[in-house]
Amino acid sequence: MILEDNYRYKGMRKSLVKQLRDKGIKTEQVLEAIQKVPRHFFFDDTFLEYAYEDKAFPIEEGQTISQPYTVAFQTELLAIQKNDKVLEVGTGSGYQSCILLELGAKVFTVEYQKKLYQRVKDFLPTINYYPRIFWGDGTKGLPQFMPYNKIIVTAGAPAIPPSLIHQLKEGGILVIPVGSKQNQIMIRITKKHDNQFKKENFHTFSFVPLRGEEGWHDQ
Ligand code: SAH
Repeated sequence: MILEDNYRYKGMRKSLVKQLRDKGIKTEQVLEAIQKVPRHFFFDDTFLEYAYEDKAFPIEEGQTISQPYTVAFQTELLAIQKNDKVLEVGTGSGYQSCILLELGAKVFTVEYQKKLYQRVKDFLPTINYYPRIFWGDGTKGLPQFMPYNKIIVTAGAPAIPPSLIHQLKEGGILVIPVGSKQNQIMIRITKKHDNQFKKENFHTFSFVPLRGEEGWHDQ
């Protein structure tokens, strides 16, 4: 793993940011965060050349680091304000957590697979990012720190987990891909007062399946 950033990588990030802008990402703070976080830190030496392509990439345990466009899109939908308390379900590589931290959020992230959890927990402090990282079934949320201003799910769900809705603050936003194991529609839920919700549907994505009690549990 090469933990060195330089002008070449910064230049590659700049053209990635341009691609994201061309694909419709508008929020300047989100684009700035993508410009800041060295995505190549999350890649093995042999695959560094892929770090700034706008593609998902396999990491350990059959999981993926999400496509930059997907990270930017979900982050934009969350409309992060400084000091928002954010729950992320599906830590994966830890890259999405770093983007949220750059936007000034307080990040609580949960990963189901112990090896990935352990790796991210050891790794992120070495590049100076400090989310609170937990091992467990994120479909149950993290009740001990609720309510959250924002919740982001980065794996494909068969349905919206009720626990996550419950742990959302009034006025809070949940962004979650929902559908089949192959592809999902991005959904944004905004929690209003009196348990009213606004639901918006966006376009199709393809995530790895969300496991756990309120996810897919047939494997
Ligand atoms: N946000 C990640 C991408 C995650 S890929 C990134 O930036 O790299 C989806 C991750 O969700 C995988 O690591 C998978 O193990 C995890 N996952 C699946 N079901 C989960 C669950 N019930 N709770 C927490 N994590 C889960």
